[in-house]
Amino acid sequence: MSTAPPCPAPATTAPLTAADRCDRCSAAAWVRVHLAAGDLLFCGHHHRAHREGLARAGAVVTASVR
Ligand SMILES: [Zn+2]
Repeated sequence: MSTAPPCPAPATTAPLTAADRCDRCSAAAWVRVHLAAGDLLFCGHHHRAHREGLARAGAVVTASVR
């Protein structure tokens, strides 16, 4: 895959809350990633599942919860 274009500045770096849900399964979000197309939220499981693809797409983690 070719190099992804640089991302614009993240839309938000606010901490994740209990109201933030994974975009894939509606579990509590643990990670917010910023892409050129917008922000996505992932639970721990789905962030691990998609981490490599997100990195190739130029995603930047803007918030995470442990
Ligand atoms: Zn999930």
